[in-house]
Amino acid sequence: MTSTTRPFLNRRLAEFGTTIFAEMSALALRTGSINLGQGFPDTDGPEEIREAAVRALRDGRGNQYPPGPGVPELRTAVAAHQRRYYGLSYDPDTEVLVTAGATEAIAATLLALLEPGDEVIALEPYYDSYAACIAMAGGTRVPVTLRPHEGAFRLDLDELRAAVTDRTRLLLLNTPHNPTGTVLTRAELTAIAELAVERDLLVVTDEVYEHLVFDPAGHIPLATFPGMRERTVTISSSGKTFSYTGWKVGWVTGTAELVTAVRSAKQFLTYVSSGPFQYAVAEALALPNTYFEGFRADMQAKRDLLSAGLTDAGFTVFQPTGTYFVTADIRPLGESDGLAFCRALPERAGVVAIPNAVFYDHREAGAPYVRFAFCKRVEVLADAAERLRKAFAH
Ligand SMILES: *Cc1c(COP(=O)(O)O)cnc(C)c1O
Repeated sequence: MTSTTRPFLNRRLAEFGTTIFAEMSALALRTGSINLGQGFPDTDGPEEIREAAVRALRDGRGNQYPPGPGVPELRTAVAAHQRRYYGLSYDPDTEVLVTAGATEAIAATLLALLEPGDEVIALEPYYDSYAACIAMAGGTRVPVTLRPHEGAFRLDLDELRAAVTDRTRLLLLNTPHNPTGTVLTRAELTAIAELAVERDLLVVTDEVYEHLVFDPAGHIPLATFPGMRERTVTISSSGKTFSYTGWKVGWVTGTAELVTAVRSAKQFLTYVSSGPFQYAVAEALALPNTYFEGFRADMQAKRDLLSAGLTDAGFTVFQPTGTYFVTADIRPLGESDGLAFCRALPERAGVVAIPNAVFYDHREAGAPYVRFAFCKRVEVLADAAERLRKAFAH
């Protein structure tokens, strides 16, 4: 083969063509459907935070390359937030790293921590960038499937234990979990932590939905468990919590050794990003509890509205305890192939959803499930629910 007949996309990435979101968003546009596919809010976050970004821009803060680890104001605010909500203490100078969203944090962490051939255990269905980043880092992904149990997708701890081999380097977790809406329980997290200590594994936890937990128990970071602080890289982001997903301000917290390793990879990806927005997010993290409580209550009401609509339409709904996604089973509608269902849904009902199967290696395990985002205005959700009822309820 000559240089132009060989496929341009290398073998590591060949399996990750264009994402389902591109296909479904195009379909939404073409059919004039309500897009509950991609998870971004249709209203912006707090006005005062937007004004903080404007002020930073005007005052010339962050318009030139900010410091590599992030502006000190934001690193201090991240450390203060981890202490305020979880009692975790991190040194803002050595144990906090600002990234271009959680997406870059995930990429940099995996690129930094993995040697080619290392195995990474990830909960399946998984967030779409995990598989691609593990592949880019030369790692091997080992999915452990979350399975429906008493109305929620749960982790089978025996299956998790059985997945660990001598080549396992790290566990890649996500709680609250996208797309299932599952929040790992204290008991599950305890067992995961014990396993990580016993098998000497690193843990990377994606906690971008930390402020969207509808269970009164709230979010429990894995780093708070015994023996975990020194082996855990915690990843979060401002996008979901403050409804500014376009700003791409994320962060990593962990020991100085882990954060230094992640920074070594991050410096060659974006180097730095989102200068003025970093100052605005520093202010956002210091908002009073009423903001975080109000945000969660608002999303909980939206969850209940869409869940009720889906149930009325005939879906079996897995009521999420976290995130802004709801997963539904299409089998009560006489359907079994979520991908075909989602491709037809815009014509049938004027609504776009995402087939969960695309987030699985074991596609058959995810075939009958579809994901709807409820981070949309109430009138949009009510309209979508009505369209689904009309299309399916008899
Ligand atoms: C949205 C999302 C991300 C990406 O966050 P950004 O800050 O926008 O890069 C990462 N992980 C999960 C589970 C998400 O849902």
